[in-house]
Amino acid sequence: MKRVLLLGGTGDALQIARQVGPRHIYSLAGLGRVPEGLACEVRVGGFGGSDGLARFIESEGIALVIDATHPYAAQMSANAAAACREAKVPCWALRRAGWTPQAGDDWRMVDGWDQLVDAIRPFRRVLFTSGREPLAHLDEIPVHQYWIVRCLDAHPGNGRAHIIDARGPFDIDGERALFALNHIDVLVTKNSGGAATQPKLEVARELKVPVVMMRRPSLPEVDREFDSPAQLLRALNEEDWSAVK
Ligand code: NAP
Repeated sequence: MKRVLLLGGTGDALQIARQVGPRHIYSLAGLGRVPEGLACEVRVGGFGGSDGLARFIESEGIALVIDATHPYAAQMSANAAAACREAKVPCWALRRAGWTPQAGDDWRMVDGWDQLVDAIRPFRRVLFTSGREPLAHLDEIPVHQYWIVRCLDAHPGNGRAHIIDARGPFDIDGERALFALNHIDVLVTKNSGGAATQPKLEVARELKVPVVMMRRPSLPEVDREFDSPAQLLRALNEEDWSAVK
């Protein structure tokens, strides 16, 4: 009986988790909400690095690891590839294509927080849709700036920052309203790809608002790569990995 370990924390991973049966394991870091009603086993929390993950793979009889973590979860992806090498099991990855700039876009690519701070310096009303990182810098907001931070965290704001705790998908009308109400003059985002959070880029284009885009981290080589949950599920069925249900 072949057992699959699915590393998740994304909508795409959840789509796969909904399709696999009870002997497989869906693993989450434990930062977001834990989905209910899945047929598979759900495990929450880290493994203790790549060595811990390799031990888990061996002790649980895992025959395949699927890395369906977010493209910016580079540590977990590196751990998964290394642990699979150590435990001698294949590693597959779901690597969703990133967005690409369209005519009319003004993207400014950055690597890391320091470059980001420099890139947003000329602007006053900043919309962050790049995760929790800005929450650690709320007491460093320059006096000429106001930050709107949309992330999966009900964190308090302050006199110069408003935190919006919201989970996608986001539609174009909602995004237009968000930009207009907050007089956004720069957007900060990761290049997550996919449709669920893409409308903000359309609104930035319409309004000629520059986009500070955090560059994707480099990810390890794996045995097979897929660009959609459907493609990956087809491969699972074809190879009788999961016998999915
Ligand atoms: P990360 O920096 O790559 O990973 C940090 C540590 O968290 C890992 O070393 C691992 O701990 C644990 N971990 C991460 N994903 C896990 C999983 N699926 N199951 C069990 N443990 C996991 O990850 P991150 O960027 O903090 O992201 C954390 C989670 O949020 C990921 O699962 C990712 O898919 C999801 N997410 C991330 C982003 C983002 O922008 N980074 C966006 C949306 C969702 P141990 O070393 O102890 O095993």
